[in-house]
Amino acid sequence: MKITVYNYSIFSQDITVQIRSFERSINQLETDLITAAERCNASEYELLKLIAEFELRQGFRLWLMNSTAEWLNLKCGITVGTAQEKVRVALALLDKPKWSEAFRTGQLSYSKARAMTRVPDADEDALLDEALHRTASQVEDWCRRLRNANPAISTRDAEQAHRSRWLSCTRDAEGMVHLNADLPADVGLLVMKALEIAAQHLPHGECEHHEDADNESFCARQADALVDMAKAYLSGDGEGKRTQGDRYQVVVHVDESALQHQGGKSDLPISTVERLLCDASAVELIEDGQGQPLDVGRKYRTLPPAQRRALEARDGHCQYPGCTHTLWLEGHHVEHWARGGKTSVDASVLMCSRHHRLLHEGGFEMSQDANGSYFIRTLYGRVLTSDPSRDGCRSHPPSRDGLVQEPRALYLVR
Ligand SMILES: [Zn+2]
Ligand SMILES: [Zn+2]
Repeated sequence: MKITVYNYSIFSQDITVQIRSFERSINQLETDLITAAERCNASEYELLKLIAEFELRQGFRLWLMNSTAEWLNLKCGITVGTAQEKVRVALALLDKPKWSEAFRTGQLSYSKARAMTRVPDADEDALLDEALHRTASQVEDWCRRLRNANPAISTRDAEQAHRSRWLSCTRDAEGMVHLNADLPADVGLLVMKALEIAAQHLPHGECEHHEDADNESFCARQADALVDMAKAYLSGDGEGKRTQGDRYQVVVHVDESALQHQGGKSDLPISTVERLLCDASAVELIEDGQGQPLDVGRKYRTLPPAQRRALEARDGHCQYPGCTHTLWLEGHHVEHWARGGKTSVDASVLMCSRHHRLLHEGGFEMSQDANGSYFIRTLYGRVLTSDPSRDGCRSHPPSRDGLVQEPRALYLVR
């Protein structure tokens, strides 16, 4: 690179201008960059191989450390979180000779290998073929959807996402309040949808006295929408609706095979999709092999309005034993319609959102006994029925005020 420096004076001010001229063309620069990236991929693979060996031989124990990640943090300057992920990828690649070879020769990047190893049961050849012809972001999205379709993995993911939800609120010295929230994808989209609708109802040009009234940023309007949502809730407008109905629409794309638990792709963990589909509007979409839509069916409700009304009349509140919630109820298909269950009032019950989530993502099961009565089996095998003389709650010691304590298993799902 050649740098030519010009100094000149204008209006008594000294100005310095540097003109940089480069020797190689942009095309050559691109080629050099790609070659360097491939070399990095190959070196990264070598690093992962060493990490896998170190982990298998438990080398960190020589230093009385707790893990390879801690050792990498100390000796190689890799933060613990990143190091843990490297260890995971390194071990996963041991069983994937074709992915390893593509990585070793520089064709596969760490970003792609990292996403691919999150789908351990994937067809090695097919996923490698996809990965080599897609961008890193597309591979990440592809793998996430493959993982979502596998109930054995994604139910755990959904539960982990639910456990990781949080919202924090801090105030700074300038008088601003900062809100930060982490939410599972389905409820996060719900909040975003509510914000979008609230933003549509905001008056336009609220700050007409500002010169930039027309340029009010999208983010600023989102903040206004959040305030409007809070005002509506506090004024009572946000309450009073008993039913789920079509109060919001979130589009989720899921392969039919994924709903049958036979592979395929899904935008969200399959157990979450199943919960949403228990009582939602659905549209069947037929696609070609490239994912291009060929035909779109009619939108229909998975629990038709008449059945929904009958269900509300019959149940009135959440049917989880002991629960009396009457707001935001969701219809639950005892045997999911996507896997051959009937869509009828007899085969459905009303559930509050918390208990509905436990049935799908929490490992709880609802079944019918020989008399046709429903019972719930918790993750730990405890059986609950609406008849207190029959369910497992009875075995719990009464608390000091004589009330039966709620079993821990209702809260502790893993
Ligand atoms: Zn359900
Ligand atoms: Zn409930």
